[in-house]
Amino acid sequence: MSRTVYVNGEYLPEEQAKISVFDRGFLFADAVYEVTTVVGGKLIDFPAHMARLKRSLGELEMKPAVEESELLNIHRKLVKENELTNGLIYLQLTRGAADRDFHYPDPDTPSSLVLFTQVKDPIENAMVKRGAKVITVEDLRWGRRDIKTVQLLYPSMAKMAAQKAGVDDAWFEEDGFINEGTSNNAWIVTADNTIVTRNLSTSILHGITRASVLKCAELLQLKIEERPFTLEEAKAAREAFITSATIFVCPVVDINGTPIGEGKPGSVTAKLREIYIEESLKAAV
Ligand code: PMP
Repeated sequence: MSRTVYVNGEYLPEEQAKISVFDRGFLFADAVYEVTTVVGGKLIDFPAHMARLKRSLGELEMKPAVEESELLNIHRKLVKENELTNGLIYLQLTRGAADRDFHYPDPDTPSSLVLFTQVKDPIENAMVKRGAKVITVEDLRWGRRDIKTVQLLYPSMAKMAAQKAGVDDAWFEEDGFINEGTSNNAWIVTADNTIVTRNLSTSILHGITRASVLKCAELLQLKIEERPFTLEEAKAAREAFITSATIFVCPVVDINGTPIGEGKPGSVTAKLREIYIEESLKAAV
């Protein structure tokens, strides 16, 4: 079935959805994005995704194309038109089309806004059941990873390196510390049951699921430390896991060939996943 896609104010069959070859998203990766998960036709963590979008736009001096309330309407219309029960909505906003020039174009240049849906079940997932295996790769991304831009070539290369190594994903390592995964935040549970994830800075994306899972950890009265952790600490951890809007909370059972804990999904991770799903479904819009 052909999907209905939103492009600059229009809802079109996907075959007719087009963007200019002069679009700066295409020429310069001058664009930001968000991915919001849909469960049972409802949007998970929606206000937080929109708040991060606003922040990304602010950091890049880019204008929002439409009001936030209109963005909610567009998300809901796409869910309805595409009869989406479980999946995701991808939103991309670019600085618009202009003659190719490294300078930003005139601020009045209309931005381009595209949204489309994809079917994916975030709850029933084989990798969550067995636990993910990861390798580490050097973090060679640009220095503003806190801005959610579409410059995803290096994460894509890291994902391919993981695939070639016969594992599921890669963690980015820098100066001996783990930053995050290719498309997720990285966490460990230490021997004394402390939950550790890297503190917010320009080194990592400020994950929406990360923020929600921290609240869940508080609800469970777990000890939390937001700080960098090393690869050695991760290998010696009792449990490890990743978080993202599309996988929620997923155990990591192997890092660079070293089994983590008992080498199978851990109970703290399972509990956090359970509470996250419960709480986020309650708050879904
Ligand atoms: N880090 C990176 C580099 C990511 O690409 C993502 C997912 N876009 C995340 C973390 C997780 O963020 P979120 O929980 O908002 O999906």
